[in-house]
Amino acid sequence: MKKMLVVGSINMDIVNKVEKHPLPGETVAGSGVSYIPGGKGANQAVAAAKAGGAVTMIGAVGSDVFAKELKESLKKYGVNTDYVITKNISSGLAFITLDSQGENTIILSGGANTELTKEDLAPYLNRLENYESLLLQNELHTNTNEWLIKEAEKRGVSIFWNPAPAYKVPKELLAKIDTLIVNETETEIITGLRIQDKETAEKAAKLLIEDGVRNVLITLGTNGSYFYGTNGETVYTDAYHVDAIDTTAAGDTFIGAYAQATMMNMSAKEALQFASAAAAISVTRFGAQQSSPTKEEIEAFLI
Ligand code: ATP
Repeated sequence: MKKMLVVGSINMDIVNKVEKHPLPGETVAGSGVSYIPGGKGANQAVAAAKAGGAVTMIGAVGSDVFAKELKESLKKYGVNTDYVITKNISSGLAFITLDSQGENTIILSGGANTELTKEDLAPYLNRLENYESLLLQNELHTNTNEWLIKEAEKRGVSIFWNPAPAYKVPKELLAKIDTLIVNETETEIITGLRIQDKETAEKAAKLLIEDGVRNVLITLGTNGSYFYGTNGETVYTDAYHVDAIDTTAAGDTFIGAYAQATMMNMSAKEALQFASAAAAISVTRFGAQQSSPTKEEIEAFLI
């Protein structure tokens, strides 16, 4: 089976429910805390593994009470964690407060994720060639990510990149990307074009192709997703209509499933349908990693 490497963030989401958010200086009572393993890297690795992939994750956890559970969660869903590094600081933590209106505030402490350096990753470079593809986000230090993209390209590894949180990506980097996967906001930050519909998505995708990206995939939330390939192939897929109860990590599920679908040699159209089905199933369930579906569940949904 073709192997995929994910290098990215591993976080614990600490979700506290309140009636209303506290004002500065105010203390309010919480009505329950949940600890949810997350981080875009870890979520996408799990989504790809559950969708049938042979996935290895490289990332960093801290020396704290969360580290063990963060690694266990990855392992439970079939991700190889042999190369996850332990740093002598806290794990990446997202402190999320959710009020009764569904509004949230998030404080993200990158912790071990932002301490992952080129020096940590350099010993693994000679293993890159063992992988067919590399899936990256942007929750590590930007320098680490950009360096890794250059090293992977030199070694002929196919790169899927979800540059989130987005920034104005240098053109020379875009030219090294096989598949850029971005939502509407990320597309706007990178291209300067506001995405309102299929037409504006197509315009933005064309700009990215001109910059050298081989394939562009723009996700449009409940409005579906749009693919534009170097050879001019375009595919638009509607999102499936489902009763959504929790959209956490819908994007991560979509991305992990899409990357895995292309590893299973699906066409762009088939891969988009596979990923859309995976994301649709995930929004009907609570949680992040636990909500992404297995390959069998996705296939059953598509029948
Ligand atoms: P996230 O909320 O995880 O940050 P995102 O902004 O990265 O998400 P979206 O564009 O919102 O990504 O969603 C990715 C894909 O997931 C969409 O293209 C769509 O196929 C699917 N999707 C998202 N939300 C829903 C929903 N409510 N119902 C069905 N499918 C959905």
